[in-house]
Amino acid sequence: MRFDIVTLFPQIFSGYLSQSLLAKAIDRGLVEIHIHDLREWSTDLKHHKIDDRPYGGGPGMLICVEPVINCVEAVQKMSDTPGVVMLTTPQGDRLDQRGVEQYSQLNRIILLCGRYEGFDQRVIDILDPVEISIGDYVLNGGEVASMVLVDSTIRMIPGVLGDEQSSWDDSFSRGNRLLEFPQYTRPPSFRGHDVPEILLSGDHGKIADWRSKQAMEKTKRRRSDLLE
Ligand code: SAM
Repeated sequence: MRFDIVTLFPQIFSGYLSQSLLAKAIDRGLVEIHIHDLREWSTDLKHHKIDDRPYGGGPGMLICVEPVINCVEAVQKMSDTPGVVMLTTPQGDRLDQRGVEQYSQLNRIILLCGRYEGFDQRVIDILDPVEISIGDYVLNGGEVASMVLVDSTIRMIPGVLGDEQSSWDDSFSRGNRLLEFPQYTRPPSFRGHDVPEILLSGDHGKIADWRSKQAMEKTKRRRSDLLE
């Protein structure tokens, strides 16, 4: 799966891309991530400015339409797969695990990271992107939201996780629209808190029953909306 991320702050991604599961997935050729600096498509050759004041007044600056369209058109041509354009915005569809599962089926995503007051409306009118939000709060920029999308999506790509079952059991996931059951590891007892005996019994049938009951109870208690 290929991601192209368009940003004004390309350096933000370097630490994140070089760590853990994502770095391994890139090394193994399961995921490709290309970062594009929007300033390279600025029409202002001297200062590489890409933002301007909003018409009608108001605080802050907007990202101009021309560099974004030029950039996306150039990036689309970098691969035979045109890809789906997505734009990060607090006004978009709230990202959830079902969305993540759907997006993980795509071959290519081009992700636009906003800054300042966001994008000129014509970016949306022309590109008709999927607009995604990671929650009802406002971030300073779309880079963190893009990382959330990449991070959650790549878990669904076969071969990325050591054990495919681990994403199957995850909260909200394919096999399990519930919150995950409680998990324990060594030691069996710590400061009077014991691991439930059933988990030490070796009886896989009973353990599976216990886990599904626990998942159901926890979901009822914390997120009854998931059961509706
Ligand atoms: N003025 C915009 C509004 O009220 O909708 C918010 C702009 S925000 C300061 C700057 C950029 O951060 C946005 O263009 C978007 O790319 C990103 N962003 C902020 N909150 C986000 C969220 N909850 N989900 C996804 N992206 C977000």
